[in-house]
Amino acid sequence: MIQLHQISKIYNQGKTNAFQALHKIDLKIADGELVAIIGTSGAGKSTLLHILACIDSYESGEYYIDDTLVKNCSEKKLAQIRNKKIGMVMQDFALVDDFSALQNVMLPLDFSKSKVSEKKEKCLKALQAVGMEKFAHHQSNKLSGGQKQRVAIARAIVNEPSIILADEPTGALDSKTSSEIMELFKSLNDAGRTVIIVTHDMKIAQQCKRVIRIEDGKIVD
Ligand code: ADP
Ligand code: ADP
Repeated sequence: MIQLHQISKIYNQGKTNAFQALHKIDLKIADGELVAIIGTSGAGKSTLLHILACIDSYESGEYYIDDTLVKNCSEKKLAQIRNKKIGMVMQDFALVDDFSALQNVMLPLDFSKSKVSEKKEKCLKALQAVGMEKFAHHQSNKLSGGQKQRVAIARAIVNEPSIILADEPTGALDSKTSSEIMELFKSLNDAGRTVIIVTHDMKIAQQCKRVIRIEDGKIVD
C-alpha cells in the first residue's frame, strides 16, 4: 500500500525562482493496482513519480510505503527500498549502451552478496519474463526501441519489487510496440505487482484500471 498525505513539492525553495510543483497531494494506491497518471506537460507527473520512487524529496506531507514512513528512513534504508521494493522504467530506457542486455539487468544486483551464478540465473529469469532471453548477450545499443524497453523492464523486475513505476514508458515507441509493452505491464500487474504509469497517451491510460489526472500540481480527477 502506498499512501501520500498532503504532499507538497517546491523547487528552489527560498529563492526568487521558487516553484510549487505539487500542492497537498492525497493519494492511496493499494497493492496490485494498475494506475495511470495523466496530465499535460508540466503538470507535475514526473515530480510525483520521483517522490513515489524515493528519488525526490518534498517540503511537507507524509509518504508511507506499507507501514514505513519514508521521511524517517536513513539513506541506507531508502537505498534498500529503492533497490528491493521499487522498479523504475524510463522513457529513454536508461540502459548502459555498451553493456549486454544481461549486464544491464545485472546492475541492480551489483551490491547483492549472492554468487555470480545465482545472479545470472535471476537475470535470465527476468529476461525470460519479458521475452528477451535469446538476446541476453546482445549489446543493448544494437537492440530496437521495444527490445530495449523490455530489457529495462527486466532490470526493473530482477529484484522482484512489489511496485513498478514507469515514466512515459512508451513515449519513444511506435504504437504497435507501445501496445506490446503495455501488454507486458498488464501481465506484471496480473502477477500481483502494483504498476503505476505516467503517460500522456490516452490509449495507454484507458487500459489501466484507474486513471489519476493531475493539473498544476493538483489531483483533479
Ligand atoms: P510533467 O512530468 O507533468 O511534465 P514535471 O513534474 O516534470 O511535470 O514538472 C512540473 C513542474 O515543475 C514544471 O513546471 C517544471 O518546469 C517544474 N520542474 C520540474 N523539475 C524541476 C526542477 N528540477 N527545478 C525547477 N522546476 C522544476
Ligand atoms: P518530463 O516531461 O518527462 O517530466 P521534463 O522535460 O519536464 O520531463 O524534465 C526533464 C528533467 O528536467 C527532469 O529531471 C526535471 O526535474 C528537470 N526540469 C524540468 N523543468 C525544470 C526547470 N524549470 N528547472 C530545472 N529543471 C527542470
